[in-house]
Amino acid sequence: MKAIEVLEDLKRRFPHEQEYHQAVFEVLESIEEVYNQHPEFEKANLIERLCIPDRIFSFRVTWVDDKGNTHTNMGYRIQHCNAIGPYKGGVRFHSSVSPSILKFLAFEQTFKNSLTTLPMGGAKGGSDFNPKGKSATEVMRFCQAFISELWRHIGPDTDVPAGDIGVGGREVGYMFGMYKKLTREFTGTFTGKGLTFGGSLIRPEATGYGNVYFLLEMLKTKGIDIKGKRCLVSGSGNVAQYTCEKLIEMGAIPVTLSDSNGYIYDPEGITTEKLEYVKELKELYRGRISEYAETYGCKYVANARPWGEKGDIALPCATQNEINGEEAKALVANGVIAISEGANMPSTPEAIEVFQQAKLLYAPGKASNAGGVSVSGLEMTQNSERISWSTEEVDSKLKWIMQNIHENCVKYGTEADGYVNYVKGANIAGFIKVARAMMSQGII
Ligand code: GLU
Repeated sequence: MKAIEVLEDLKRRFPHEQEYHQAVFEVLESIEEVYNQHPEFEKANLIERLCIPDRIFSFRVTWVDDKGNTHTNMGYRIQHCNAIGPYKGGVRFHSSVSPSILKFLAFEQTFKNSLTTLPMGGAKGGSDFNPKGKSATEVMRFCQAFISELWRHIGPDTDVPAGDIGVGGREVGYMFGMYKKLTREFTGTFTGKGLTFGGSLIRPEATGYGNVYFLLEMLKTKGIDIKGKRCLVSGSGNVAQYTCEKLIEMGAIPVTLSDSNGYIYDPEGITTEKLEYVKELKELYRGRISEYAETYGCKYVANARPWGEKGDIALPCATQNEINGEEAKALVANGVIAISEGANMPSTPEAIEVFQQAKLLYAPGKASNAGGVSVSGLEMTQNSERISWSTEEVDSKLKWIMQNIHENCVKYGTEADGYVNYVKGANIAGFIKVARAMMSQGII
């Protein structure tokens, strides 16, 4: 089948999976030219095989709350592709989790992981369990119930889960504990583990730091200094926090943060001290970002996103489809020069079109947020060797990987007029490696 026919076919077979169609379309559009230059790919029906996950596990997760009431959620694991390494990808706990969301994430993960240069296939998992307002013991019981079903499908050389939205160090710890009990083995089956049981230094910081390392590479191509640049950051979880931390370290000024209820705008800039407050607020107390505005006396806008504010750089670090076409136009009108995505697929196709038409520096998440899974890959290596590397060692490897991803995007994405289409570059570079591996391994 031709690349674009595959999408029509997927729409017919999976009609309600809009996010999945969106992610597939973006990749197919980018790689069509390369794909058509390889008739052997079409003969092996490579695209169809690459777009449809290897397998999907879906299961019931039943758990008991603190009052003794019984609840049932859905649990999933999508093993998308293991052509270049064991399945690898995070677990998301959020009420919006559906097969479509996880299929798009597992698909994206496959290309992202390929870009990292490390041997990792693509996967994603999760549940529609909503961690908001749940006690630590409820979260623990849920994680244990989730793993009591999933454990038989994962393993250090099979499938290695990690965190994502709603799943951080605490949840990974609970899942790892239950997994270890059931398998009677201490292995590196999860990444993002605590430092006392095989976790890697810099893993919590990696997605945010990597995002800024990628941004710096993009700015370098234009000779732009990040110092003093005002940055619109969305989200307030792990990725947003460490994006801000690195921005501050580099002399930039983050001015916004958000959560699902609204956003704050702090014209004075979010300082290291204020960021410490946000980390405590979110991690320790699981509070709302509106409390930041009350504490520091700045603007809070309920039920809105920060894209109408004035800034030089936008770093969406919340969730998928959080910048639409209109918001992208507002960013362009306000003079934004670069967009570096910390979240997965935060810009809609209309928004991407606006950024690229305006010839802005625009990095898709699968390139700019690959730092997280990269350090997960480094955690796997350390676990296999049964050693731990220093902060400097991991951080310098992370920096090198982000620079390498940037180089590959430039190599495959530079257009005739010199504009770097990072979407095209990331998709082609990610695709070629997976495609070659699949071709070598026969029709399986
Ligand atoms: N959930 C993160 C991502 O979207 C990290 C995955 C991992 O470390 O396996 O890439």
